[in-house]
Amino acid sequence: MTTRTGRRRGPSLVGLAVALVASAGCVVGGASEPGGAPPPERPASGTPGAQSTRADGTTSVEEFQQDVADARSIAERYWSAQFRASGQAFQPIRRVLPYRRSGEVSCGGQEIPRNNAVYCSASDYIAYDVNWSFGAFRQIGDAFVFYLLGHEYAHGIQTRLGIRYNFTIQQELQADCMAGAFLGDSVRSGTLRLDDGDLEEFREGLLAVGDDPNQPWFAEDSHGTAEQRTDAFFRGYEKSLDACDLT
Ligand SMILES: [Zn+2]
Repeated sequence: MTTRTGRRRGPSLVGLAVALVASAGCVVGGASEPGGAPPPERPASGTPGAQSTRADGTTSVEEFQQDVADARSIAERYWSAQFRASGQAFQPIRRVLPYRRSGEVSCGGQEIPRNNAVYCSASDYIAYDVNWSFGAFRQIGDAFVFYLLGHEYAHGIQTRLGIRYNFTIQQELQADCMAGAFLGDSVRSGTLRLDDGDLEEFREGLLAVGDDPNQPWFAEDSHGTAEQRTDAFFRGYEKSLDACDLT
C-alpha cells in the first residue's frame, strides 16, 4: 500500500444527520472468541518477511507505525471531505492509542482486552493492541493496518451520525462496508495506491477476523462470518458509500 498526496474526490454522503447518541465500544477481532482472532504472529526469524505474503516486503516497526499514522490521517481527511460535502461540521476522532496489556486502556469503565482493536465512543478514541496488530501486519501485510483503522474509524463515524443498530452484527458489517468505501475511494482518487497483493491481504485479513461459523448471528459480540465481512467490505470497496446504507 502506497500513500500519495493528491486531490481526492468521493461521492457525497446523502442524508447525513448528526445526533448525540452514545454507542458502546466495538471490537474488530473478538478476542474472547477462538474463531475471532487473527492467526498468531509468526515466530521471529533471521529473514523477516521471508514468509510474508506482502509484495512490498518490509515488516519493520517503523513502517507499521507509519502505516497506522497514514491510515488515520487519510481516514480523517476522507471523512472530513464527506461531511463537508453534506454541509456538516466534522470532528476527527480525538486519539489513536496503542496498548500492550489487558486493562491498560478502559472505555467507560470497561477494560479493553488484549488481541483487539476498539473504538470507544465514551471518550472518542481508537485503541489497538500494538503487539497483536503488528503481528497481523507482519503475517498478513500492510493492507490489514489500513483495514483495521478504517473499520474502527467507521465506528467513530457511525457515532457521529447517530447510527445505532439493534444487533452488533449490523453495526459491524456496516463498519466493514464503510472501511471498504474509504479504501476503494482512496484508491480511486489516487490518495492510496495498491501494491501487488494488497487486495489479497484484505481478503486474508477479513478471513482472520471472521466469526466462528457456529456462532449465532444475533450474539452480542457477533461481527459476521468471514464471508459476510468480505462481502460487506468489497461491496463498499467497489460501490462506495452508497452501498453502506448510511441514512
Ligand atoms: Zn467493529
